[in-house]
Amino acid sequence: MSTRFCRAGFCLVPPNAMADIYIANTCTVTHVADRKARHWLRLSRRRNPQAIIVAVGCYVQRAPEELSPIADLVVDNRRKERLLEIVSDWLSSQQLLPHHEHDQLEATAGHNIARVRSLIKIQEGCRTPCSYCIVPRVRARESSCPASQVIEAIQERVAAGFREVVLTGTKVGCYREAGGGLEQLVERILRETDIERLRISSLQPQEISPQLLDLWQDDRLCHHFHMALQSGSEAVLQRMRRRYTLCQYQQAMDSIRQAIPDVAITTDIMVAFPGETDGEFEQSYQFCRQADFADIHVFPFSSRPGTVAAGMPDQVDDRIKASRTHRMLELSLCSRRDFEHRFVGQSMPVLWEKEMFSGSGLYSGLTGNYIRVFARSRTSLANCIVSAKLTGFWHQGMWGELTGENSG
Ligand code: SF4
Repeated sequence: MSTRFCRAGFCLVPPNAMADIYIANTCTVTHVADRKARHWLRLSRRRNPQAIIVAVGCYVQRAPEELSPIADLVVDNRRKERLLEIVSDWLSSQQLLPHHEHDQLEATAGHNIARVRSLIKIQEGCRTPCSYCIVPRVRARESSCPASQVIEAIQERVAAGFREVVLTGTKVGCYREAGGGLEQLVERILRETDIERLRISSLQPQEISPQLLDLWQDDRLCHHFHMALQSGSEAVLQRMRRRYTLCQYQQAMDSIRQAIPDVAITTDIMVAFPGETDGEFEQSYQFCRQADFADIHVFPFSSRPGTVAAGMPDQVDDRIKASRTHRMLELSLCSRRDFEHRFVGQSMPVLWEKEMFSGSGLYSGLTGNYIRVFARSRTSLANCIVSAKLTGFWHQGMWGELTGENSG
């Protein structure tokens, strides 16, 4: 979206700057996501009462009536591709032309911030509903971006200075194109582009195959797999209508670790799904504990109107939900620390992001296997891949002493 607007002559500014047009690409996966979208739209209106406020995306698709009192334009997923045209038409009809007096400096800064890592959406939609998920109702049609377009987009990002690309989508592993699936696409990307790091946002256990894992012999593929488990209780998984068993999930983890020993496997866990008993939560907790995840994203169950789970009996009490969330979050922190601890004393390539505070010389970045590293440097590390020896825990990650050549 931002690329299209920039090409048409609009000027991109950071999300919290003064702007003529504010566009919220909304998510509706939880009630918290809904609340954040409404909050940001109202905040934008207060920031510049003359601005055009636009809501786009899945929340609009699900409940446009909740957003139309807050936004000037509500654009659902079907019309999202035409957003530039819709906004331009609206501007003409109101006889408004965006003025570009807002500080270009901020716009430039915003652009630089984004230059380290770029997300490229290769697939969209899901038509295999899990019982709790609203996505199939708002994005039912599965579609994949042609491989030639993905390659072109990556080449553009490389030319613009990006070092890492993350392939994203509703279900990336369901990528299908005439020429094949995700495996073939990744092969082509590695062969036809010079991107230095390629990360895949998330996969399902049933998509892990020996052929796919063979691709990781190329070091440009990040040693990081995100596989949403959702629950470590077989009974809960079934009620969630997930399409794998714990045994399949465990096998997928084993194959990944066998192929890539220093890999980080991260996951999503939902706690307090309707009917989750103390025993089922305990099974889930114990499965996660033995799984050695590098990180666990914990989500308390959020009832989405219209889903099967919203109508299930035995919704879990808020107090129990909070205590299970807390316990799982503690496990998440311990799991992350255990994973990071294995790398103390090792030197690893880090893709560094912008300086944390202007003039501080403090930088933070990510290793290929998703460890957040902090370091100090007299020269700018921004958007460079430089190795650092990990010396111990620091804030939300590890401290690193620079050891490598600056490749920026
Ligand atoms: S697989 Fe399940 S959780 Fe993922 S998008 Fe489809 S319905 Fe939602």
